[in-house]
Amino acid sequence: MTIPLVIGNWKMNMLASEACDLARSLVDRLSAVEGVVIAPPFTSLYPVSQIIKGSSLGLAGQNFHFESKGAYTGEVSLKMLKDVGCGYALIGHSERRQLFGETDETVNKKVHLAMQMGITAVVCVGETGEQRKAGETLSVIETQLSGGLAGLSGESIAHLAIAYEPVWAIGTGLNATPEQAVDIHKFIRKFLFERQGFSEKMGARILYGGSVTPENCAELLREEEINGALVGGASLNFESFYAIIKSSLEP
Ligand code: PEP
Repeated sequence: MTIPLVIGNWKMNMLASEACDLARSLVDRLSAVEGVVIAPPFTSLYPVSQIIKGSSLGLAGQNFHFESKGAYTGEVSLKMLKDVGCGYALIGHSERRQLFGETDETVNKKVHLAMQMGITAVVCVGETGEQRKAGETLSVIETQLSGGLAGLSGESIAHLAIAYEPVWAIGTGLNATPEQAVDIHKFIRKFLFERQGFSEKMGARILYGGSVTPENCAELLREEEINGALVGGASLNFESFYAIIKSSLEP
């Protein structure tokens, strides 16, 4: 059985001391639980890495540049993320796509780099509300997947997770229903195995993200198709994030 993956995306929130406090609470209560990852802002990565050292908590970068070094003022490389202890990196979050010009091409470059460096890439895909209303959901996701995952080999799935995050659900309090999420997860899984040539035996972790809360997580996470959650707002508070993690561990 695939261990569920629950990732807390802290976005541009919390000072380093606050991030460390939250990380400390998580370590205290979850030190031996596999499959929990936190993605603090860059400035908190190193101090948080010192707190979670020796625990089972994983660390993720929220973004990185696809070049390994050079004159890219304001950017951070994947090698730098790895250096401070990241084993995971979010790639193509809709906020990066909408606000910072991330494209399927740059997603693809980043995914290849993550594979080369043994970092688990968490590739985010999802449609806007307008695209859903226009009946374009599947074609949008197909385009994001085929562009973002172009040229990846079958074995690379072991170092990959896909997060289905409908844009209309992110930070809106309006989560996808389990049925809506399952439909898209099935579509993604089929794409990965049939079009991408990934080995079915190795499984594929497909997470759901978009207004996951302690109130709605159980009904989403009990679906076999949903292998975990990417959590934004509710991961900023210990009690709500802990409740979601606990729910992911229930059979
Ligand atoms: C996200 O940013 O990936 C996210 C899912 O945010 P929220 O849980 O706040 O909707």
